[in-house]
Amino acid sequence: MKVFEEKALAGLEELKLNTAALDLDTVSQQAAAESWSYTEFLGCLLDGELKRRHQVRVEMSLQFARFPYLKRLSEFDFKAQPAVDKRLVEELATGRFLSEGRNIIFLGPPGVGKTHLAIALGVVTAELGHRVYFTTAIDLARKLTRAMNENRLSREMKNLTRPKLLIVDEVGYLKLEQPEASLVFQTISQRYERQGAMILTSNKAFSSWGEVFAGDPVMASAALDRLLHRCTVVNIRGESYRLKEKRAAAKETGVVQELAAIAANS
Ligand code: ADP
Ligand code: MG
Repeated sequence: MKVFEEKALAGLEELKLNTAALDLDTVSQQAAAESWSYTEFLGCLLDGELKRRHQVRVEMSLQFARFPYLKRLSEFDFKAQPAVDKRLVEELATGRFLSEGRNIIFLGPPGVGKTHLAIALGVVTAELGHRVYFTTAIDLARKLTRAMNENRLSREMKNLTRPKLLIVDEVGYLKLEQPEASLVFQTISQRYERQGAMILTSNKAFSSWGEVFAGDPVMASAALDRLLHRCTVVNIRGESYRLKEKRAAAKETGVVQELAAIAANS
């Protein structure tokens, strides 16, 4: 029926199935050439549309996330960091913690891969089609202080509770002043109430979080109480990955120099 042939394209466009509309000709020809069933044809057309939509959602989520740089789990050398349980991280990468509203806290000294792992799990979240937002504790505090001074704190708070995952990097690198600490506490509290997952990284042991929260141990323990209620804590020990790499490189150059010296003497 010729009349339906024209409706196919117009209908797909009206329904905003733009990728299916673009693919219609090619997929129809392929279906005819390979004697596909009608269902196979429809399945293939929709598959293209759904894949493209997912891809656009991931790209938007990656943009929205404001990651300082992209890091993947595949780039993480688990052998170099035995303190990190590969199987645990792989379990986290299934994204189950997101639907369970579980938090993840990476603790450890500088350079051991806390931010790398936080970003990599953020990328996984985006790839699952969810919204994720990355910030540092101090940026979060400043952003909220600004919002408070401009009378738009509740809107900003809402923006921070909406993403499926909120990553707060570098908790404790800089001490938060009052009322910054209390604004960060409110964010933690609001996400906790909505069972929104968070990933935090910190170089400070929990026992020192009182200093982080404007020297207020009561606020710190109230924050920890909420964070740790449903939480996976990953304690990373060991030396900085960068330093280790540098040392390995120096060792290698040492070997090269030795060989050069032997060659020169022979
Ligand atoms: P932290 O946040 O704990 O201070 P980072 O995550 O910023 O440390 O790591 C410092 C650098 O070393 C980053 O470039 C990171 O990608 C890299 N790095 C750290 N640990 C590893 C690892 N185990 N495998 C690969 N790269 C690593
Ligand atoms: Mg870091």
